[in-house]
Amino acid sequence: MGRPLSLSPAYDRLSFWHETAGSGWTPRPSLPGDLDVDVAVVGAGFTGLWTAYYLAEADPTLRIAVLEAEVAGYGASGRNGGWCSALFPASLPALAALSDRGGALAQHRAMRETVDEVARVAAVEGIDAHVAKGGTIALARNRAQWRRARDEVRDARDWGRGDDDLRLLDAREATSVLGGAGTVGATYTPDCAAIHPGRLVRGLAEAVERRGAQVYERTRATAIEAGRVRTAHGVVRAETVVRATEGYTPTLAGQARAVAPVYSLVIATEPLAAETWRQIGLARRETFTDHRHLIVYGQRTADDRIVFGGRGAPYHAGSRVKPEFDRDERVFIKLYAALLDLLPVLAGTRVTHAWGGALGIPRDWCASVGLDRRTGLGWAGGYVGDGVSTTNLAGRTLRDLVLGRDTELTTLPWVGHRSRAWEPEPLRWLGINAGLRATTLADAEERLTRRPSVVARAVAPLTGH
Ligand SMILES: Cc1cc2nc3c(=O)[nH]c(=O)nc-3n(C[C@H](O)[C@H](O)[C@H](O)COP(=O)(O)OP(=O)(O)OC[C@H]3O[C@@H](n4cnc5c(N)ncnc54)[C@H](O)[C@@H]3O)c2cc1C
Repeated sequence: MGRPLSLSPAYDRLSFWHETAGSGWTPRPSLPGDLDVDVAVVGAGFTGLWTAYYLAEADPTLRIAVLEAEVAGYGASGRNGGWCSALFPASLPALAALSDRGGALAQHRAMRETVDEVARVAAVEGIDAHVAKGGTIALARNRAQWRRARDEVRDARDWGRGDDDLRLLDAREATSVLGGAGTVGATYTPDCAAIHPGRLVRGLAEAVERRGAQVYERTRATAIEAGRVRTAHGVVRAETVVRATEGYTPTLAGQARAVAPVYSLVIATEPLAAETWRQIGLARRETFTDHRHLIVYGQRTADDRIVFGGRGAPYHAGSRVKPEFDRDERVFIKLYAALLDLLPVLAGTRVTHAWGGALGIPRDWCASVGLDRRTGLGWAGGYVGDGVSTTNLAGRTLRDLVLGRDTELTTLPWVGHRSRAWEPEPLRWLGINAGLRATTLADAEERLTRRPSVVARAVAPLTGH
């Protein structure tokens, strides 16, 4: 099929998810000119779309406009690993420091419920997002990782989190779920669903439109101000303006140091044979990782591929976000090597897709959502690598904040939290890349010494742990 004669980028080629999202990629119309609405949302990723969705559902009379620089699902929401998990980037002690023990646990509970809420809305709206709630297995593959796994479960118990939330698996139990090489044991949580993020984000954009909100694509906000959003196509005036631009936020005026855009890269294999799957496992499409320091994440897709991603790409000076940063051959090769090391049965398997995207890291690694009642400016973001579900909690929270409702959601500790700004360059570049290098070094150290890494402890303030 020929492409439309516009100069639109090949959106369907951005990732495996984009290619198989089951939707056309011809952009929706741009903003036709100046516009008055009640709520303007900047960014049509999960944050912006969940916000518009819940607002339109709660008050169908609201006039809502979502303004997107490219197309809905262009950013991280269309490119991620598809873990819809209860993970939140800040630890329970960090959340307790913002509120108290009860507040931290309430946030954790809300995250657990959010996994089911995402699946519920997908079902209600008829979005076939290939949801499979198989939980997450995190293997321990050397003694240092095993110690970390046991510490994690012990800490969970100290917080009153039981077996139904996080539990330890011995080597036999672990390999019965995932046949990873060198498995000593694992942790397992049921609170994660593997999803097809492309299908979810595109389906959500349609659900938002069905509920009466407008989505304007290829409409870049050039300035966000109290009461208005400026674009090249016109000015949108609104009582409430919500910024939902995550890793792209530093490209907005005045936001250069708000979050650091750090790239995560992903590969997808060809569909694997049934015999290979018998050796690997993941029978319930459990998402998987191990207890190394440099995060990796994997899922078995509905069509029997493995999608496997990880950090490790460098941070680009000046918080730049560019399409050419989506691909880094060296990182793709390292990811493939890490996957083979974990699952040697994959030797010779073809990698059919490779891509990347920017996630947003706040200086204190604590996501936040809020609305400044004085200016009418709202925001949500800083999810690091845990935004697939957290964006849904953000959307419901912004609904309550915009409608002036005091609810259980609006008192959670992340509401109204303001992370401090990142350091100016070149300090930011030096600090983030030193943290990334040290994390890789820490894993190598543990493979050699089999003891918890000394390097990892030394650089903990740089890596958010
Ligand atoms: C490779 C990768 C893997 C990940 N894996 C996982 C995972 O498995 N599980 C998980 O929970 N999280 C994961 N994450 C994180 C998760 O994807 C994000 O936290 C989440 O999608 C953020 O959603 P968002 O809507 O806030 O941002 P985005 O999806 O990035 O949306 C922001 C949107 O704003 C638009 N925009 C930017 N600037 C402007 C402007 N000036 N005007 C108008 N529009 C603008 C962009 O085009 C974009 O569409 C991953 C992220 C990446 C990159």
